[in-house]
Amino acid sequence: MKFNNNIEDLDALGNDHIGTSSDTPLRKDAFSLSTDEKIDIIKDDVRHIMETLGLDLTDDSLNGTPNRVAKMFVKELFGGLDPKRKPNASTFENKYKYGEMLVEKNITVYSTCEHHLLPIVGKAHVAYISNGTVVGLSKMNRIVDYYAKRPQVQERLTIQIVKELQDVLQTEDVACVIDAKHLCVNSRGIRDTESSTVTSEFGGKFKEKETRREFLDYIKLDTQF
Ligand SMILES: [Zn+2]
Repeated sequence: MKFNNNIEDLDALGNDHIGTSSDTPLRKDAFSLSTDEKIDIIKDDVRHIMETLGLDLTDDSLNGTPNRVAKMFVKELFGGLDPKRKPNASTFENKYKYGEMLVEKNITVYSTCEHHLLPIVGKAHVAYISNGTVVGLSKMNRIVDYYAKRPQVQERLTIQIVKELQDVLQTEDVACVIDAKHLCVNSRGIRDTESSTVTSEFGGKFKEKETRREFLDYIKLDTQF
């Protein structure tokens, strides 16, 4: 599908939450500014937005907001744009010779919709079958969090998590399902507070019906702790 760059088409594209690529669209000069330089520029931009809206930034309650938001954007909400923050890929030899599926369920996802800059909140379920290499369990959470901390579309986030784990684990046999609420759908626009969005990406053996079924059955387990 080819889109023209006019504002109506781009608006419709964003409202339909269609992503255009599995890679985050980054400018060539994305990393030419330092973190502090970025915060400085964004701080002025946020101040401009707030003043345009008519807010009085000399009020004590609002005075620190531009700086706070700028720091939050660069270091927290969108910190996953910075490749230096990518969790390092230490892997281990599969000493137990565990050859079955490993599933990390209910990984908390806090991301941001790139079309409205509103939160995406949900759970990711990630699985892999080791071909001799394993990763620490928390590494899976960290990878989910790293890619979530970008302006995102949920489909791309799902694919990026799978690709990263395939890379780290040197196997195609990786899968991810994400179930998440988009505040741009829940709190504005259509205002459907109940709906959530499920996306999935199945690599290697997970494309086979039985393996995929097993993974989906584990996700459904409702163990009480
Ligand atoms: Zn949105």
